[in-house]
Amino acid sequence: MSLSIQEKIKSVIRDVPNFPKEGILFKDITPILLNPTLVNELVAAMADQFKNDEIDAVAGIESRGYLFGILLAQKLQVPFIMIRKEGKLPAKTIKESYDLEYGSATIEVHEDAITPNSNVLIHDDLLATGGTAIAAAKLIQQKAKVVGFSFVIELEFLKGIDHLNKINTHTKSLIK
Ligand code: AMP
Repeated sequence: MSLSIQEKIKSVIRDVPNFPKEGILFKDITPILLNPTLVNELVAAMADQFKNDEIDAVAGIESRGYLFGILLAQKLQVPFIMIRKEGKLPAKTIKESYDLEYGSATIEVHEDAITPNSNVLIHDDLLATGGTAIAAAKLIQQKAKVVGFSFVIELEFLKGIDHLNKINTHTKSLIK
């Protein structure tokens, strides 16, 4: 019997305890990248989750959101927008700041990368508390609409989905 895409991905994701700090179980997705057939299947499965949606662009969150976000945008045949940490993008940007456990962070995007009022799908590798995805959504919403969120992994116990649902209820995660 052949394995589902979810089973295949779960079998290669590496759980690394206490990284980057004590108490965190880090989900290492890099082994997926070593298997090009699996990457293809993963991207096809993610694209399939949004096949009935009108999506004008995919916005990926630095940096692991780029790995599959670009491929997802290619599969959907739409532009890919880079959301970066502050100070990395060379041209005119718009910014959004958000709170972290200690202090705060700012993310930004090239202003001309977002078509006004377009439908943007936000992608990242993993949904934990939702803080990063919410900040990305608020950034995109300065110019466009957020049509949903796409993740490879959702850590359900952290209930990040409750925060995302306040912005858009259309969140799809490949595995939980
Ligand atoms: P959050 O803002 O709490 O939803 O955190 C999501 C961001 O942090 C994503 O960009 C993830 O790449 C990263 N992240 C958070 N927790 C983990 C984890 N346990 N394993 C891997 N990445 C994580």
